[in-house]
Amino acid sequence: MVKDVLEHIERRSRFVLTSHARPDGDAIGSALACCEVLRSLGKQADVVLHDPVPRIYQQLPFADRVVQADRVNGNYEAAIILECDSIQRTRLEGLENRFLISIDHHVSGRPFAHVNWIDPHATATAELVYRLAREARVNISPEIATCLYTALMTDTGSFMFRGTNEHTFALARELVLAGADPAQCARNIYFAHSTAKMRLLGSALSNLHREGALAWIWVTHEQMERSQAKEEDCEGIVNYALSIGDVEVAVFFREMPDGRYRVSLRSKGALNVAAIAEGLGGGGHECASGCSMDGPLSVAVARLLEKIRSVFP
Ligand code: 5GP
Repeated sequence: MVKDVLEHIERRSRFVLTSHARPDGDAIGSALACCEVLRSLGKQADVVLHDPVPRIYQQLPFADRVVQADRVNGNYEAAIILECDSIQRTRLEGLENRFLISIDHHVSGRPFAHVNWIDPHATATAELVYRLAREARVNISPEIATCLYTALMTDTGSFMFRGTNEHTFALARELVLAGADPAQCARNIYFAHSTAKMRLLGSALSNLHREGALAWIWVTHEQMERSQAKEEDCEGIVNYALSIGDVEVAVFFREMPDGRYRVSLRSKGALNVAAIAEGLGGGGHECASGCSMDGPLSVAVARLLEKIRSVFP
């Protein structure tokens, strides 16, 4: 499949790259690295994202290249969409009538593009971008390595999530040999939180609920505003609920300004939370997934718990 993707790239000159809205480390790191790989091949390539680069990823090489927009304009010959199961996940307009190449590693990945490279065995989309770079014989510069290492590190939960295996470490080794600095990458992500995020975490943990092996927490829109937190400050909060010893599944609900809820699900492995999220119109991985749900909170919680209980009594 990598050869097929490369052939389509070789035939064209102008590319736009994008990923999902509310981008995480794999979305941003993979898009930035892939853009640089294309530029190294002499192509014109731009990264366009619907949302701004979260603060913790602004240190990444090339992060200042990201164009934030609602719509893709421009005379591109193809769009490379990373980490998405549909055009809608990008929340960008102007992609519909373009030649689309999808590169994704989610089990919930769907073949929506003209060329679909979906490999759920890859630890992160970054792994696929690395394979593409190698196939294209592009030199992995320290900057590319830093983007890919950060993507790999964040998508594996610092090499802790299920699915992390010998290939993950082999790739990490290659990236370190190519110039990624593990301590600096970790510092930029895990020791760079905003004060607002810590305040928000306090609110979320004060709303901790338990039932058997389940734990759930939430924040209201009002708590978000009081903490002066941004959407990006919610990343990773669900892991604090999952860190409780006898918890197998954790859920984080965030009230959005329109009263709907963004839901993050995490599992230690006993329950496939991708299946739960897919049943609610979302998706993700076996151990990390998400979806959106209608409020009010009590209804969203009851609906989700019922779905979980039906397969995980
Ligand atoms: P998070 O909880 O961090 O927002 O998302 C966890 C994982 O689930 C990520 O891999 C993310 O791409 C995926 N995910 C989250 N929300 C959605 C959604 O609404 N649809 C799909 N298809 N995947 C989602």
